[in-house]
This record gives sequence, C-alpha cells and structure tokens, in this order.
Amino acid sequence: MATPAPGQPASSVSAAPQPEVTAEAGAQIDFSRSSVVTQGDPDGKLKQLLSAQSAGSITRAASAGSLGSPLAQLVTVSPFGFRVSPITGGSGDFHRGQDFAAQCGTSVLAAASGTVTFVGWHQYGGGNRVVVDHGNGLETTYNHLSSASVKVGQTVSRGDLVALSGTTGASTGCHLHFEVQVNGEVVDPTGWL
Ligand SMILES: [Zn+2]
Repeated sequence: MATPAPGQPASSVSAAPQPEVTAEAGAQIDFSRSSVVTQGDPDGKLKQLLSAQSAGSITRAASAGSLGSPLAQLVTVSPFGFRVSPITGGSGDFHRGQDFAAQCGTSVLAAASGTVTFVGWHQYGGGNRVVVDHGNGLETTYNHLSSASVKVGQTVSRGDLVALSGTTGASTGCHLHFEVQVNGEVVDPTGWL
C-alpha cells in the first residue's frame, strides 16, 4: 500500500461538482426527475447531461463519450464536415455525418436509449434511414441501410439492433453514415462518441 505523499490528500475520493442550473423566473422545467442515474447504466452520462440542459447548450468536452458506438467496431472512412464529394467529385461538399466501415448486413446499434421517430426512405440521399430521438433536442440517424429492424414509436435501449447496414441512397459502397443532430442541426458525431 502506498502512503499519501506529504501535501497529498489521504483520499482521492471527492464529491463530483453538481452542474449549476439556472433558469429565468417562470421558466418551465420540463424534465423528469424520476430517472435515477445508476453507476451501471451505460446511458447514465447522457441522461445526466440531458436532464440538466438542452442538448444545444452542452459543450463538446461534456458530451464526448456520452453516445455509444453504432457498430461493434468503429472504423471511420469519412469524417464529418467539408470534403470532396464521392458522388460528384466536386469540392465543397458538406458531409452531414460520419461514415464508418461496415460490410452490408452488419448490425447497426442504437447509440443510446430513445424512441424511433423515423423509419423509411430519405429523399435527400440517405437511402433507408432510421432516426432515434434521445430527448432534449438530441437525435441520431442511421443511413444507407439495407433494412430496418425497428418501427416508428418503438423504444430502444443503447446497443439495441436498429438496422442492418447497406448501400442504399447516395452511397458508393457498403458503409454506415451516422449523424448526430442537436435541435435539428447536424453536428460532428466525434463530439458525442
Ligand atoms: Zn456519409
């Protein structure tokens, strides 16, 4: 057993600082206090973040690591942001999500618990698409799927099978195009994974 060095606290255990939450007088606080966060809950970090604030006000430092992996293995093949379009070859194409390597038919997993709000064809290139709403303005989308494994309105838990990957829509090969949306706007998924 190591003894504490002089000047070091005998114990490194300290209470985690509570996030300070402020609201305008009369503001409606509409989150539920009934969801108790437990140590063993893989969704705990995300639930804690979202219970205290809108997804739009969460910093990248706080959100990192709060979403689970949408595939058993994550290998990025194309990051979020501006790139040369793989479809048109033109520059200045804005890539709205992050592409991960996935052979067609690979299990696609819910990045966190939530409710399925869309299953169907995405008219702007996403092909077969599933959208999961995690509450408080946070959504994840799964695109170019070969098939969906969930229905609209279904509740999913983190890690649940939501679809099988594919190459439908504007896609040049089998992969998963994964998006994170905050208040309807896409953001860099690496800030959440
Ligand atoms: Zn993509």
